[in-house]
Amino acid sequence: MLTDTDKDLVRQCMNALRDGIAGFRTRRPQLEMVAAVANTLACCRKEPNEGGGGRGEHIAVIEAGTGTGKSFGALVPALVMARTLGKRLVVSSSTVALQHQYAEKDAPMLQSLLPLDFSFAVAKGRRRYACTARLMAAGTAAGQQDLLSDESRDEHSGLQGQVHSASPAATEATLRRQRRIVVGLAESFEAGRWNGDRDELAVPVADDLWAGLTTDRQGCSGNRCPDFARCPFHAARQRAKEADLVIANHDLVLSALDMEAGSVLPPASETFYVFDEAHSLSAKVVEHFAARHALRGARDWVQGATDAVRDTVLALRLDDGLLRDARDQARCIDEALGELYRLIHATRAFEMKRARRFRSGELPEWVLRHGGVLHSSASELQKTFAVLREAVLQRAPIEGSLATQVLSALGFFAAKLDNLVETWRLVLAEDVEGEAPVARWIELHDGTASSSDYLVCASPISGSDKLRHLLWNRASGVILMSATLTSCGTFDLFLQQSGLSVYAAVQFLRVESPFDYRSNARLVIPAMRTDPGDARRHTDEVVERMPGLVQTLGTLVLFASGKQMREVYALLPEDLRRCTLMQGTMPKMEMLSRHRAAIDSGERSVLFGLQSFSEGVDLPREYCTHVVCAKLPFSVPDSPLEEARREWIESQGRSPFIDITVPETAVRLKQQLGRLIRTDEDHGTATILDRRLVSRRWGRLLMRGLPDFELVVEPARGCAASGSRG
Ligand code: SF4
Repeated sequence: MLTDTDKDLVRQCMNALRDGIAGFRTRRPQLEMVAAVANTLACCRKEPNEGGGGRGEHIAVIEAGTGTGKSFGALVPALVMARTLGKRLVVSSSTVALQHQYAEKDAPMLQSLLPLDFSFAVAKGRRRYACTARLMAAGTAAGQQDLLSDESRDEHSGLQGQVHSASPAATEATLRRQRRIVVGLAESFEAGRWNGDRDELAVPVADDLWAGLTTDRQGCSGNRCPDFARCPFHAARQRAKEADLVIANHDLVLSALDMEAGSVLPPASETFYVFDEAHSLSAKVVEHFAARHALRGARDWVQGATDAVRDTVLALRLDDGLLRDARDQARCIDEALGELYRLIHATRAFEMKRARRFRSGELPEWVLRHGGVLHSSASELQKTFAVLREAVLQRAPIEGSLATQVLSALGFFAAKLDNLVETWRLVLAEDVEGEAPVARWIELHDGTASSSDYLVCASPISGSDKLRHLLWNRASGVILMSATLTSCGTFDLFLQQSGLSVYAAVQFLRVESPFDYRSNARLVIPAMRTDPGDARRHTDEVVERMPGLVQTLGTLVLFASGKQMREVYALLPEDLRRCTLMQGTMPKMEMLSRHRAAIDSGERSVLFGLQSFSEGVDLPREYCTHVVCAKLPFSVPDSPLEEARREWIESQGRSPFIDITVPETAVRLKQQLGRLIRTDEDHGTATILDRRLVSRRWGRLLMRGLPDFELVVEPARGCAASGSRG
């Protein structure tokens, strides 16, 4: 229950923002949001481990339109309630850009203005930080190698091995450049000019090089590492452990919830969560808990794993019974992998298709048999690795950096082993009655006869059950917010995807954007001659219309398929192609900065992009006054995961098209149109080159919940008509 003291403190905080930020206006939509967040968190769960998760009164789902000021609208009351109720606060976003905004802008501003004392820290995955032990070893090896002749280079391992393994085809010049980078990083770190955080580097380091300078949980010796005291990851982790507000991302939160003990984040039962961009949470869950591995690829690394065990046992003079165990277990794994490869190949199922899904989760007897052996042998090898790791850790105080190097090598294989075990655990597990099943399939990897491999894949088809078990039932309080949580005018799709539909007391709020959409934006449905079902003719008509559509300085053209985007681009008149930047031809960030630079110098610029340009792209004012949607953004339901979802929906007697396809398309369309009006001063037009929006019955569903632009539907013949969606 919210007390008068809480209300007073929230009020004081909002007043402090009004007084401290030039131009800040307390608007009604933001205040509604503040009240909803405070009231929800006041109902926090007091008995964290009770089964069932209560009725969900500790959870709020808030759709806040663009310009609502949702980050302050959630953070201010959440900080107040966390303090009042003795909770920690975790704010999570799905993109690096938004995490950065919370860390660099919002949190420091609140810290300086609010009459509240709070500390904050950023939490990132371990691999965003350099491992000091590996960095120093690599820096030393790289420095030595630069002094050596080419002939003697191979005698030295260290960085040489890392660089070669990272990029086997690299030229000598590339290797030399990489060595210089590593030496520079090690020196900067030693001198205190760089703190080991990858995101703080002025010049980005390539992924393959970075992989040799960082490590994962399995490769880290923790507080037994000689470099523990100056380890950037553990320092950041300590800061996060002590902070009142932790700024994280969805992936990290899911990892933390999955492991909980030893996590960088506080236990869910002591935490209030604010999830920004919450619309992407359930897809993140599916991605996070999916697993896959290659069959032939695994045979190679399993051999490498036994070599690593042998080297470790010899180097540290450990019990050679461990080596015998590892070799026996690896042999069983190798045989099972070989049999699975042979039998899959013999099915000839991949001559026509790249993926073969096991319908309704039914596995052939030979998959069950060899998969069972594989899973149990890999689980045994996992245990051998755990014993070996413990033995190495016990020797760490004596062996120093040798132990760190050995752990790093073992960690590489241990992570692969974990993935193999998890893949088969998912493949072989019985689906739980009443819960969404797991999709299981095999995919052809590479295409040539000599190098082809098969990927064994398994993925939950929905994040709903995981979220229910890991988050809704355990967290003290949760705020879920985004500009796109409703589709077709309801929260139904989000509730179903997130598993929240079973909680009766979840609180909902929909706060409209304060922008005057109706006066400043038009949604035009032109009198198209063609239907997107006739792809060739529709593309021709899009090309034909394009010169007339890009009359303003900044235009964003969004496509539902890469094929159509490339075809339209290729057919554009030369002058128009010159000022068009197409996704895939350069990094997204570069496209956006070139676009802005062109507009700043008064030149026309057109962006061609796919769905990823509908999220996290902020092009206010002249940078985008026209959004063109070439086609309604239906997803192509050809992935095994999508097929399994549809199969599951149908098995419940529901329609996948109406229950999934249409609502998901509505969300994507809303995101596309959301690129147009970003500030109070923006104005412009959105044009949808797809008449199905007005000609099909389901088109009306898509229209519901779109921003309230003035609607102009050009009739097939004659003059244009204006109207509302009513
Ligand atoms: S504690 Fe772990 S991550 Fe840190 S330097 Fe040591 S091995 Fe690397």
